[in-house]
Amino acid sequence: MRILNTIITICLCMMYQNIFTQDQNYIPAHFSKTTISINLERDIYAGLKPKVGIVFHYMGSKNIDTSAIEIMLKEQVISDLNKDLENKINFFLESISHYTWHMYLPDIYKSLDSSSESSSESLLKPEKRSLKIIDFIQRTKKKKNINVYVFETYPSDQVVLLGFCILHKDYDVILMSHDGFRGNTLTHEVGHFLKLKHPWETTKRDLQKLGLDNKENCNHMNYDCDEHQAFTSQQLNFMKYILIKKMGHLWRN
Ligand SMILES: [Zn+2]
Repeated sequence: MRILNTIITICLCMMYQNIFTQDQNYIPAHFSKTTISINLERDIYAGLKPKVGIVFHYMGSKNIDTSAIEIMLKEQVISDLNKDLENKINFFLESISHYTWHMYLPDIYKSLDSSSESSSESLLKPEKRSLKIIDFIQRTKKKKNINVYVFETYPSDQVVLLGFCILHKDYDVILMSHDGFRGNTLTHEVGHFLKLKHPWETTKRDLQKLGLDNKENCNHMNYDCDEHQAFTSQQLNFMKYILIKKMGHLWRN
């Protein structure tokens, strides 16, 4: 069983409009005001078990041991992810890439976060190294896999940023830190990627639909739960529905 992280996982799912594209009218589905309109009590795609490849991009790694990382990813990280999704979706390791240039995850977040105090300037003048990750992301968009970029992180204000995902119609991207592999960060981010919100961002009506009694329920979409974390069957049905119905480019049979 995995050791649950004592570090707070912050998974900020940010809204970008100008930084990647000029598409200023785009509103990520995650932030849309529409509520869940489907019945989540049953898996309407019970006969389907979609497969989704994940490409891991290790950033700042000069001499990584690819075969050791491959074993860790297959036997631990992706295995745990599939267990957390209760095998409703079959994730698999597509490939591992590594790039020698380095940047820290919180620095990328700060330079991309349109809601942070310093963002107005940084949005206008992103650091050159942030531009590089944007360039990478642009080159990996819509390539039939989820792209997970792995960086180092550091604590800031007693909180450690372990991951965030980019909710944008043109990018299938999760950014996370090496430390996030010790806990459920990837599972949490995949939850966001498949349009689950944090419980405290979810309407009362949607919480009921998702089988969550209240916003404090211990769940993969909460931070810092000491108890056993899991998805509800309704959350699992919802994620599978979103993947099959809305992300046809990502999965195969
Ligand atoms: Zn989150």
